[in-house]
Amino acid sequence: AKELGNNAFQLFSPDMGQQTQHRVDLEIRLRSAIAEEQLYLVYQPKVNLTSGEITGCEALIRWKHPEFGMVSPMQFIPIAEDSGLIIAIGDWVLRTACLQGRAWIDAGLPPICIAVNISVRQFLQQDLVAWVARTLQATGLPPEYLELELTESLIAQDIERVTQTTLQLKEIGVKLSIDDFGTGYSSLSYLRSFHVDTLKIDQSFVRNMLTETENATIVLAVIALAHSLKFKVIAEGVETEQHCKYLQMHDCDEIQGYYFSKPIAATEFASLLQSGQKL
Ligand code: C2E
Ligand code: CA
Ligand code: CA
Ligand code: CA
Repeated sequence: AKELGNNAFQLFSPDMGQQTQHRVDLEIRLRSAIAEEQLYLVYQPKVNLTSGEITGCEALIRWKHPEFGMVSPMQFIPIAEDSGLIIAIGDWVLRTACLQGRAWIDAGLPPICIAVNISVRQFLQQDLVAWVARTLQATGLPPEYLELELTESLIAQDIERVTQTTLQLKEIGVKLSIDDFGTGYSSLSYLRSFHVDTLKIDQSFVRNMLTETENATIVLAVIALAHSLKFKVIAEGVETEQHCKYLQMHDCDEIQGYYFSKPIAATEFASLLQSGQKL
């Protein structure tokens, strides 16, 4: 791998023949990434389509390797999941996001909800609820300012158990959303029994909704479904004013995407929030 120098893309390309070896290399490097402080979070605003105000943000992980540069979470999160490293990484993510949320409150910024991604493997840990409660307590973030983004594939898991866990999470007061909604094999009847607050429409539908009617149909169906179940609905991957206008016209509640802002550093997010900038 050395002779590839600092070309991270080549090193970690999934198309390479020696895929397994590269996965192992990546896993070894990822193992030391937390201790060596190579991980950090960026924050992407979520804005309300009625008020135009920032209502929250999503914390997204970044990995900057000293030699290979930026490695995308699309590459290393699946490896973290397979290897079990996601537990340690997820713990770091939750703690860091909660500490950041607490720091923003202490700085007198308008209170907003911070969303953290929770992978299936994390969700199925026995001590998930206790872990979330413990982290909130340790960081001093009030539970209503934390949202957990769950993936739709949870619906393929043990329904009883997922229902119970979502209920317990509601009881400690955190918010729940279902990420990438529409891409999985959601059974709508189960969706009702999960104690979630928000459906997040997957960006693949949003990206193509103005050019392909099938995508618009799905976007409108998810908005209607969410509202009929008394859930909030947010569209991700909103890149243009036309996307925004269309979603506004069709009663989507919130948007997230490059149109308003890319994911940004904590200090930048604080300035944006402070400035009161609207959509
Ligand atoms: P996701 O949860 O669906 O996050 C949204 C992704 O879309 C992010 O990519 C974000 O940067 C990107 N995005 C936001 N707005 C736009 C837009 O307008 N256009 C386009 N083209 N893209 C946009 P990112 O940060 O590369 O993360 C990729 C995925 O990695 C995430 O997808 C999530 O599944 C996973 N991930 C990221 N951070 C974490 C984490 O802390 N824990 C876990 N378990 N997974 C994470
Ligand atoms: Ca997400
Ligand atoms: Ca998503
Ligand atoms: Ca996604």
